[in-house]
Amino acid sequence: MHHFAPRGGRLHAEDVDLTALAPAVGTPVYVYAAATLRRHAVALQAAFAPHEAALGRPLIAFAVKAASNVSVLKVLAGCGLGADTVSEGEIRRGLAAGVPADRIVFSGVGKTDAELDLAVGLGLRQINVESTVEMERLAAAAARAGRVPAVAVRVNPKLGAGGHAKITTGGEGDKFGVPMAEALDLYRRWAGDARVRPVGLACHIGSQITDLAPLRTAFARLAELTRTLRAEGHAVSRLDLGGGLGVAYAGGDASASLEAYAAMDADVLGGLEVEIVLEPGRLLAANAGILLSRVIQVTERGDGRRLLVLDAAMNDLLRPAMYEAH
Ligand SMILES: *Cc1c(COP(=O)(O)O)cnc(C)c1O
Repeated sequence: MHHFAPRGGRLHAEDVDLTALAPAVGTPVYVYAAATLRRHAVALQAAFAPHEAALGRPLIAFAVKAASNVSVLKVLAGCGLGADTVSEGEIRRGLAAGVPADRIVFSGVGKTDAELDLAVGLGLRQINVESTVEMERLAAAAARAGRVPAVAVRVNPKLGAGGHAKITTGGEGDKFGVPMAEALDLYRRWAGDARVRPVGLACHIGSQITDLAPLRTAFARLAELTRTLRAEGHAVSRLDLGGGLGVAYAGGDASASLEAYAAMDADVLGGLEVEIVLEPGRLLAANAGILLSRVIQVTERGDGRRLLVLDAAMNDLLRPAMYEAH
């Protein structure tokens, strides 16, 4: 459900008449419905509520790349959400929106040394490390700062999933995460290094996933790694399940059921007594905003077609041209 609907023939966002808004703020402009963002955040929290005994209360860290406007982040921060970030800019946006550092997760394959210094200095919730070389760079940053960051190892469970090849991140050939076979050794080695504190494992296998089966398999692999590491005496107190839950874009699409997702999580991870972190992006933001554009000109073509020429273009809404996004 969203909050964009015509009233009296004019499209509204919640109670705001967009035809009146356009000249007031100028076009093109993105318009977000805070009510929709809040509704999704609350629905996700509610889906996990019955599983509190099994999973605790997960930290929901909104994937900032899905909608990085600070006002959007403020709304979600107000619902108690954290932020999943991949750059200094996203970290600073999260902080500016009022997300406390201990609810900010720092993910991504391309963290610069300056960004690692910043993340360590801020004492973020956790830094998701994606490779051995990154762990070495993080340990160096930690030594520089004299602080010990909480680290999760992002595992690549070798199952790509998602609505399109361009948004699959967990396949064998993908650049994201540490291959399963290397993850254990990485964890073992760094569990014994005083500069960093490995607290758990993370994965994010793709986006626009509407079938829970690949997620279940990925989480089962995280559970298996957790048991193996614990049997060797290593602490594993946190599992970051990534994002990826898909939404219905057009009439025929199915979206993932939040209740089924939460129940699956509880089923696979319930006995482990780990803190759960979630990184949803599009699930919260996909239908919470619109691009409001003005018709500059109507062109009549000889074949009877009417072309509406807008003041918004590919630079304002790139993804449809990139990979058939809706
Ligand atoms: C993109 C991304 C997400 C969010 O993905 P959605 O499909 O929008 O939920 C979460 N975590 C990481 C690491 C990502 O790259």
